[in-house]
Amino acid sequence: PTSVLWFRRDLRLGDHPALMTAVEAAGADGVLPLFVVDPRLWGPSGVPRREYLRRCLAALREATGGALVIRSGDPSDVVPAVAREVAAGSVHVSADTGPYGRRRDAAVERALGDVAFTRTGSPYAVGPGLVTKRNGTPFQVFTPFARAWREHGWPAPAPHPGDVAWCRGPRSEDLPPEQDLGGTRLPPAGEEAARATWDRFREERLHAYADGRNTPGTDGTSRLSAHLKYGTVHPRTLLADLAAEGDGEDVRRFTDELAWREFYADVLWHRPESAREYLRPELAAIGYDSGPHAEELVAAWETGRTGFPIVDAGMRQLLGEAYVHNRVRMIVASFLVKDLHQEWTRGARYFMQHLVDGDLASNNHGWQWVAGTGTDASPYYRVFNPVTQGKKFDPDGTYVKRWVPELRDVDAKYVHEPWTAPGGPPPGYPDPVVDHAHERRVALDRFERVRRA
Ligand code: FAD
Repeated sequence: PTSVLWFRRDLRLGDHPALMTAVEAAGADGVLPLFVVDPRLWGPSGVPRREYLRRCLAALREATGGALVIRSGDPSDVVPAVAREVAAGSVHVSADTGPYGRRRDAAVERALGDVAFTRTGSPYAVGPGLVTKRNGTPFQVFTPFARAWREHGWPAPAPHPGDVAWCRGPRSEDLPPEQDLGGTRLPPAGEEAARATWDRFREERLHAYADGRNTPGTDGTSRLSAHLKYGTVHPRTLLADLAAEGDGEDVRRFTDELAWREFYADVLWHRPESAREYLRPELAAIGYDSGPHAEELVAAWETGRTGFPIVDAGMRQLLGEAYVHNRVRMIVASFLVKDLHQEWTRGARYFMQHLVDGDLASNNHGWQWVAGTGTDASPYYRVFNPVTQGKKFDPDGTYVKRWVPELRDVDAKYVHEPWTAPGGPPPGYPDPVVDHAHERRVALDRFERVRRA
């Protein structure tokens, strides 16, 4: 009988184990490719992710020769209905290991009744939950996790399925409506674009990654995060290609970054509440600022007008490209939590609204890491200094000048603290909204109080 391949975070055809099992199960009857626009995910996604998903779906529809069926609604109604329409014998998915995905899939499986629901693979090289300590408990800390993850290993990429016999016929909705990006530029979408991005990175930047990854002014990283998020490429494919690149420092560093993504998914698998709640709950009592002045400061952060150039550049990159360089994500997150005394959850929500690669596990645990409240936490007392970080990682101000045009004519010497320039900051650029040294002490005092209590 026909099998249904329900696509979610795996919007590609290459290296797709669930597609292989769907093809095997279908025999001559063909595979029906399905995407369900779930209002519970679509609504809260934010404009960049909605538009990016729409473009990924357009590419996938083309790759399936127009066979992709799109339906909107609650998956536990839609998937069984489509399965009935084509008299499917089985529904195939790549496992979703996030908290909502697990609940949703359990409901769909129940609603399917006698139709088999088969999970093959996941968005990760090693499925979350599979890497544990010898005694079977989960890792709390990245480095030993990464070691065990490498030792565990991963399967080789699945072969390309070749010419799939797609099942045609059932009604499909149009692609979701185009979203108004208001000038935000998104990376190219779809499997071919992922491949081209990866090939270019391997040729041009992989072998300078260990240093290049930390300087936001140079394009030293892969920019694959949105592709990994939507599964237009699988990390297994990347890891197989990396094996051919030797095991130098650059390759090791890049593999480590993929391991961070797997680590955070593993933490979320074991502790689904960690997406919203403090992993170190005692730190929830630190005390946060509220009221009209605090709101003004948050608005300055959101719009890139804090008067701290590297923070403002990062927040403007977020609005301009729905993306922020990793080093700068840490700096702007630290600024919101430790200089403006806001809860990490607030920043995490804002990021999820605006990032094209917004991912619950990587984002929310990234925020907990910076806030010092996570499993594998930087200690709370590590506070990023936006001026010294700027000078160290953007020494000539390339990044800052790209995103903050008011600072283009400021001498590199002053570009990370323009208030020290002869004549003060350039017209139109704000003075610093807070005194970093003072706010750092406030944050540490509050932390000390909670720690003693
Ligand atoms: P590269 O340096 O080329 O790394 C390759 C891949 O490794 C990335 O695409 C990503 O999938 C993974 N990776 C790299 N660093 C990390 C990391 N620290 N944690 C988890 N995975 C990593 N990443 C997201 O994919 N989605 C998010 O929503 C997200 N939010 C973040 C929020 C904060 C506060 C912080 C500090 C980090 C966050 N990250 C997030 C991690 C990291 O910043 C991005 O993955 C990275 O900047 C993406 O750029 P790239 O693809 O060029 O990365």
